[in-house]
Amino acid sequence: SYVLYHDQIIKNGSIPVDPEDRGYLFGDGIYEVVFVYDSKPFAFDEHFDRFVQSANKLELALPYDIPTFKHLTDELIKKNNVQNGMVYIQMTRGVAPRNHLYERNMQSVVTGYAKSVTLESIAQSHANGIQTYLTEDIRWLRCDIKSLNLLGNVMAKRKAADYDCQEAIQHREGMVTEGSSSNVFIVKNGTLQTHPASNLILNGITRQIVLQVAKELQIPILEEAFLIDDLLGADEVFITSTTMEVTPVVKLKGQQEQSYKIGPVTSELQKHFKAKIQNSAST
Ligand code: PMP
Repeated sequence: SYVLYHDQIIKNGSIPVDPEDRGYLFGDGIYEVVFVYDSKPFAFDEHFDRFVQSANKLELALPYDIPTFKHLTDELIKKNNVQNGMVYIQMTRGVAPRNHLYERNMQSVVTGYAKSVTLESIAQSHANGIQTYLTEDIRWLRCDIKSLNLLGNVMAKRKAADYDCQEAIQHREGMVTEGSSSNVFIVKNGTLQTHPASNLILNGITRQIVLQVAKELQIPILEEAFLIDDLLGADEVFITSTTMEVTPVVKLKGQQEQSYKIGPVTSELQKHFKAKIQNSAST
């Protein structure tokens, strides 16, 4: 396969790894995951808007402009012959003698790769829904930055898997925030509700598109934090992410348990989200 190193697409296995890269030492870096449908990156501009925002929040220097990142993403897709799959792009602050203090003028290190995925397992989750595990959100207070520091998310996902769940639903003192790698929505009496885009969640691109779709469909929207009790009492629950699109939740496990049916609002949003993908793939 071919991978990205700085602004070069090279054969995998030939990227030098510097042990003093701050990405390794401190998780001092950011990333994006863009899905590829029909050999085209979906919502590239939105993803790289967020990439720039994450970079700015951490005072990371962007070595290339966005059109260059777009070109490199297209090249990764083409070189690896990806029809359906994903592109991962990461940028660390770069290499320096280990010191918590960072200098602002460092040379960022960009790496990336592209992978094909089969759409069957996600189709399975869409058809049957997934099980989720309710767990405490132990992460830091800048979850709005898509940083490489993902230990809280990683631990939540492991715990969920241990209870046969595909995703964790995290809460801070009873307030539902988001999944370990997804955003969480509930539907109650026809109103769609999700945590507002604050420092406590990553403002998912899928989340934003789903809210846009809901607006177009004139579904009432509430961007306000909700409680575990609201989660338990919801008519429908679903999660959103680049890799899971709109996936229904049929079960909540953990300190509180609940079962859900895949509801009409979830199905409608899922259908219209897929239509957006088709539209962008055909243009
Ligand atoms: N929240 C977290 C913590 C995530 O890691 C992700 C996926 N990267 C999301 C939400 C969903 O974001 P997106 O729709 O942009 O993939």
